[in-house]
Amino acid sequence: MNNHITTIAFDADDTLWINEPYFQEAEEEFCVLLEDYLPQHSVSQELFKTEIKNLHLYGYGVKGFMLCMIETVSRVSDGTASMQLIDRTIEIGQELLQKPIELLEGVTQTLDALKGKYRLVVATKGDLLDQERKLKNSGLQDYFHHIEIMSDKKESDYQKLLKHLDCKPEQFLMLGNSIKSDVLPVLEIGGFAAHIPYHVTWSHEQHEHHLEHDNFMELTSIDEVLKYL
Ligand SMILES: [Mg+2]
Repeated sequence: MNNHITTIAFDADDTLWINEPYFQEAEEEFCVLLEDYLPQHSVSQELFKTEIKNLHLYGYGVKGFMLCMIETVSRVSDGTASMQLIDRTIEIGQELLQKPIELLEGVTQTLDALKGKYRLVVATKGDLLDQERKLKNSGLQDYFHHIEIMSDKKESDYQKLLKHLDCKPEQFLMLGNSIKSDVLPVLEIGGFAAHIPYHVTWSHEQHEHHLEHDNFMELTSIDEVLKYL
């Protein structure tokens, strides 16, 4: 692979630690909560619709997810749901904000191997406070030169990040579990990207097409990146 790489950025959720399974658990609880109004799978569809509708207003993260759950309660119940149901919904979100951090396999070993040789960065979407809390609780903070909590991961967001890091695209490698957010925009601006699939992906981040590109690596686990560097 390219030996000009100086900077390696890691996505956080479902790349460094478990995230999506917690969201799915929360969603399942929420769907059970509303099953008097609609079958569970329909509640799930309604919630997803609300999330996509509001994404441009709330961005990514748990707080936006909570507001979307509340909006869905109101719509699905035609405005008749009790405050108790709203309270329980808020609780589901607050529990999500307090989940323990469980690192994914190989993360610490990989960071240990790369530390000192590359400038390591976290580039993640989500709520600022929540991501800061997770990073702190992960114990990984000291590995990283810079933490970027981004409102989105489009080409322009990566360009801004690279400018801030004073890094050329060809010196930059991004690792993450989302082809859509962690890979395609980075390749588009001339950087390198590695995809490490995680067994569950939020519908909005799913990408079905097979990808081939000179600057792209498909990995099965995070430590595989060491073979390419
Ligand atoms: Mg991710």
